[in-house]
Amino acid sequence: MPSRTLAITFGCLLFFCAAFLATPALAQPPGANEMPSVIQVPAEAQPSAHFDATAATNAYLAQIPADKTARSNTYFEGGYWLILWDFLYGVVIALILLNLRWSARMRDLAERVTRFKPVHTFVYWLQYIILTSILGFPLTVYEGYFREHKYGLATQTFGPWMGDQLKNLGVGVVLGGLLIMILVGIVRRLPRTWWIWGAVATNIFLVFVVLISPVYIFPLFNKITRLNDPKIVDPILSLARANGIPARDVFTMDASRQSTRMSANVSGFASTMRITLNDNLLRRGSPEEIQAVMGHEMGHYVLNHIYKGIMFNLIETVLLFAFLRWGVAWSLQRWGDKWGVHEITDVGVIPLVLLLVSIFGFISTPIDNTLTRTQEYEADMYGLNTSRQPDGFAQGAIHLGEYRKMNPGPIEEWIFYDHPSGRNRIYASMRWKAENLKLFTAPPSGLVQVPVQSTESAAPAPPVVDVEKK
Ligand SMILES: [Zn+2]
Repeated sequence: MPSRTLAITFGCLLFFCAAFLATPALAQPPGANEMPSVIQVPAEAQPSAHFDATAATNAYLAQIPADKTARSNTYFEGGYWLILWDFLYGVVIALILLNLRWSARMRDLAERVTRFKPVHTFVYWLQYIILTSILGFPLTVYEGYFREHKYGLATQTFGPWMGDQLKNLGVGVVLGGLLIMILVGIVRRLPRTWWIWGAVATNIFLVFVVLISPVYIFPLFNKITRLNDPKIVDPILSLARANGIPARDVFTMDASRQSTRMSANVSGFASTMRITLNDNLLRRGSPEEIQAVMGHEMGHYVLNHIYKGIMFNLIETVLLFAFLRWGVAWSLQRWGDKWGVHEITDVGVIPLVLLLVSIFGFISTPIDNTLTRTQEYEADMYGLNTSRQPDGFAQGAIHLGEYRKMNPGPIEEWIFYDHPSGRNRIYASMRWKAENLKLFTAPPSGLVQVPVQSTESAAPAPPVVDVEKK
């Protein structure tokens, strides 16, 4: 890397550290945007002969204070713009690297270090990822630190946040370096069919990363512990068994180390399969809400979303690699001389490849979002059927409304939402409740219950907890 480049980039870094030190105070303390923790089931959502799903939905939404709605709308809509700024910022960095021939110089330097091809690729990658992380730092620190604090979503001070960024960089150096070495090797050996084999290798690599993440990557950032409280664990494992999920333990993760967001997941395959709830959900979610969220996560597992996701990803990466084959050849023919990069087998081409990847990603955002959102909706339906907690679901949707706009327009939802909007999730829950009202009002009929000696307990208990009484 030329020393002038280094001087400029470190200058940028110093400037932003100085800007940070000069910031007097953070705009919002963590959790300042918190929605009410215990949400009452509104009168309109109580079981009754005139239960109306739309009225129940509106009554739930009316419980959110107007200032919180305004704040989460501003936060979420700001995210739309960030998609554009992230994209444009990345384009500018790639064009700087190519047009000022920094990429060509990093390649030459890597060649001076070693002639052994795979190590040469890795040395280039090391320079590339460090340089682009520094150049991208102003946007990273705004997006990941200042903006999150401004909306009361972040809990970390600058030091630990920066520590996590460095760990991220470390993971990027190792995993990114491995993938790039594999891909460059494939491009060199299979000059005609590399785009097909490259897509296949990328997917196999992603599956490998998904497999090792719960054990080797997540613990770098958070502490993961086994949950022992039977009040929480027993209903979850019982729900898991009822759905054919081979989980024996439930884990919790200290997500509150970084943020106030609530979440849970079912991760891994077969023997690495595990259920994890983050501590924000444990701390703030009601039992009904936790069951609703777990039902949703189990839906992802039972509906094979992970395998469907891999299949879709494979199709999308083949298309992406076909686009790369065309785009790289076309660009090198026009500007190769100017950039000092002439062949796709030359590692100096990496900024161009990643620029084309980001163009493809930017254009496919609405398609990717719609695919994910469709699966999320399916998991919602599954979760409702298995947990039978429509009010727990509504409460969960309101909690997620701390950082997601609750009530977007249909086109806005189609383009930007990777989950159904809060309003649609509450409406789906209330529609389910309307169609299953007897679960909440009367004991089950059909089977004759044999009274057990005592005449006092002749009436069988309803099959679900009456959530309205909480
Ligand atoms: Zn989900």
